[in-house]
Amino acid sequence: MAKPVLLTLDDDREVLRAIERDLRRKYASDYRVLRAESGRAAMEIVRELKLRNSAVALFLVDQRMPGLSGVEFLEQAMVLHPDAKRVLLTAYADTDAAIAAINEAGINHYLLKPWDPPEEHLYPILDDLLEDWRAAFPTQFDGIRVLGNRWSPASHNIKDFLARNHVPYQWLDIETAEAHTEVRSLVDLLDEEEKRDLPLVIFPKGLRLRQPTLAEVAEHAGLKTRAAKDFYDLAIVGGGPAGLAAAVYGASEGVRTVMIEREAPGGQAGMSSRIDNYLGFPGGLSGGDLARRAVDQARSFGVEIVSAEATAVRLDSQYRILKLADATEISCHALLVATGVECR
Ligand SMILES: Cc1cc2nc3c(=O)[nH]c(=O)nc-3n(C[C@H](O)[C@H](O)[C@H](O)COP(=O)(O)OP(=O)(O)OC[C@H]3O[C@@H](n4cnc5c(N)ncnc54)[C@H](O)[C@@H]3O)c2cc1C
Repeated sequence: MAKPVLLTLDDDREVLRAIERDLRRKYASDYRVLRAESGRAAMEIVRELKLRNSAVALFLVDQRMPGLSGVEFLEQAMVLHPDAKRVLLTAYADTDAAIAAINEAGINHYLLKPWDPPEEHLYPILDDLLEDWRAAFPTQFDGIRVLGNRWSPASHNIKDFLARNHVPYQWLDIETAEAHTEVRSLVDLLDEEEKRDLPLVIFPKGLRLRQPTLAEVAEHAGLKTRAAKDFYDLAIVGGGPAGLAAAVYGASEGVRTVMIEREAPGGQAGMSSRIDNYLGFPGGLSGGDLARRAVDQARSFGVEIVSAEATAVRLDSQYRILKLADATEISCHALLVATGVECR
């Protein structure tokens, strides 16, 4: 899990630097410390964190700022991050306003400036709040999220692609937005095009792709989409049982082997819930299990598995040259086409 965020907000640069320094000194190993100089900049960060599904543990916010006051900021921020602890930084003169805001903005604590020494006036209070937050806050999923409609083939294809390539993801069904606050608050942050052109894939670093191709998903999901070398002894197109078996046999004989698969290793067999007639498995096994075992075995012999589509082949004297959909080429001595069948 990525580190939860501590966000501090103050329009006075000196104070902001000082509080950031004190936060980093004590909490940098367990938390990500972010800062903002205005309420508007802080709201941008808060929205971005929500889109990335990043957990916010604490807001530490100055009360007196031009534009948005600390309390007003906290009221808006708590809609998106209701579990974050909220601390207001006040001058002595603002104490009454801070006390009044305890109920309005659900403030957990107010701190009087200056907080020196932090070991006495800052850390004990924050330690207590953060411990409380950790105890109550469930582990947040911070991987890829797919937002779409459960009846859409495009959404299904992306989910299927990620699952079969063993990439963990979270599915968010837009039809549940009415009932599901998590989905609704995410949808509210999207622009109109994103809401219209589903499925939307949200990657952990914040990248959002509308109706992406599988190749785009593969690239940003960390799958290998380019071959490491230009030349191989053996290139195999298709990663079903035939392609995987050929890859294992080739590589186990020391043949430099690359396998190109446009969807997921396992092919049709990977979709089978139970295979009873595969050699060596008298009790049967699922297609997913067969694919995972075969991929592990192929990798252990050094087979390079590339997530890409082969589009053309040409001959050049004793070499075969394979063209991929991204226009890159791979040449090889031997080419094995194991593209199986596609049901329509
Ligand atoms: C639901 C289901 C259950 C099954 N159960 C059984 C069973 O119990 N027992 C049994 O014996 N058989 C079963 N089968 C049949 C078995 O899965 C197939 O016979 C077997 O998968 C064929 O293997 P293959 O490697 O030749 O081709 P495929 O499995 O079809 O694999 C071909 C691969 O090539 C890829 N590919 C195609 N074109 C390209 C391209 N241009 N570039 C890159 N990659 C490409 C495809 O994405 C695919 O992954 C089942 C099939 C299905 C669908």
